[in-house]
Amino acid sequence: MKKRIGLLYGGKSAEHEVSLSTATAVSKAIDYAKYEVHPIYITLDGQWLRGPELTQAVESTEQLQLKPNQILPNNITEFVLDKTSQTQFDVVFPLLHGTNGEDGTVQGLLEVLNLPYVGNGVLASSAGMDKVVMKQLFGVAGLQQVPYVYFLRKEWDQNQDELIAKCEQELSWPMFVKPANLGSSVGISKASNVEELIKAIQFAFQYDRKVIIEKGLNAREIEMGVLGNDRPNVSVAGEIKPMTEFYDYDSKYKDGSTALIIPAEIPTDVESTMKEMAIKAFKILDCAGLVRSDFFVTENNEVYINEVNTMPGFTPVSMYPLLWQHTGVSYPQLIDTLIELAIERHTEKQ
Ligand code: ATP
Ligand code: MG
Ligand code: MG
Ligand code: MG
Repeated sequence: MKKRIGLLYGGKSAEHEVSLSTATAVSKAIDYAKYEVHPIYITLDGQWLRGPELTQAVESTEQLQLKPNQILPNNITEFVLDKTSQTQFDVVFPLLHGTNGEDGTVQGLLEVLNLPYVGNGVLASSAGMDKVVMKQLFGVAGLQQVPYVYFLRKEWDQNQDELIAKCEQELSWPMFVKPANLGSSVGISKASNVEELIKAIQFAFQYDRKVIIEKGLNAREIEMGVLGNDRPNVSVAGEIKPMTEFYDYDSKYKDGSTALIIPAEIPTDVESTMKEMAIKAFKILDCAGLVRSDFFVTENNEVYINEVNTMPGFTPVSMYPLLWQHTGVSYPQLIDTLIELAIERHTEKQ
């Protein structure tokens, strides 16, 4: 019998658009001989929708999008997952990036409803989404990372001068300023002096009540994929070469100028160090299913972990699937494996 997949996409997140391309790509590649796909679209303002038109979009592989504030066609209805969902879906695939989807919130809902779902659970998703919590756990695991400072909007409003002094004391220029909870480089800026730092902090606070400031490294950016549950496997490494100042939103999705070099040309011992670090990061956050680990590698081959992404970009031209393709796992096989891992994890929990 075909497995019924509830494909969650869109999402109330600054990464909504990224999820649309990811969901389109998965719906194109998924094996319809094995799976029935039931798309569930979450609008930017958080409405959940289902309907034959969305399903048709998947089958005809059009972009799975409704425009913001579009009046709903008659046959598209609001939808909520509830206890009856267990009889409708065998596995839910939350193809959501960023807040309200990659951060454990949707995973919590799926847990409560006892629905098997692809990828990371509540703890890994939420700890992986909050860069401060993630770094604190990486610290516990003894992983090398750049120094950082963080604070809340209220603290910034009260002690701006003190916090700038703290950044200057504990970090060095350039600095990277990030909203604590986001992805796709949204809200991130590089600052090379105090004036830029203040602007960057104000900008990051538009996306989150917590920001993190890191020492900027001049380093190569290398990523690895992890796939599995309790005994995860690691892919080959891939290097990112953005043509821009850093790997920002446009260089990720818009201008196509970024080169992905797979496998990355790195010494074997550096690759083994990264593999070990990727597994340690996966384990300390109690990850499941999949993770993409992002690293910096300096001129003298020192390895720093930057972050993990618990629902990495997932189009056929995204780094995570490409890494697996070069490791011998094709895109459709990767989808199959993730669905199997979701069922395995769900069964083990019972
Ligand atoms: P995604 O989830 O899409 O990978 P993100 O929004 O979580 O991205 P990061 O990966 O932390 O953000 O940072 C985005 C980019 O900014 C990095 O790929 C890198 O180009 C640059 N960057 C971030 N932090 C640093 C740093 N400390 N030193 C140098 N470059 C950095
Ligand atoms: Mg990220
Ligand atoms: Mg991300
Ligand atoms: Mg990253």
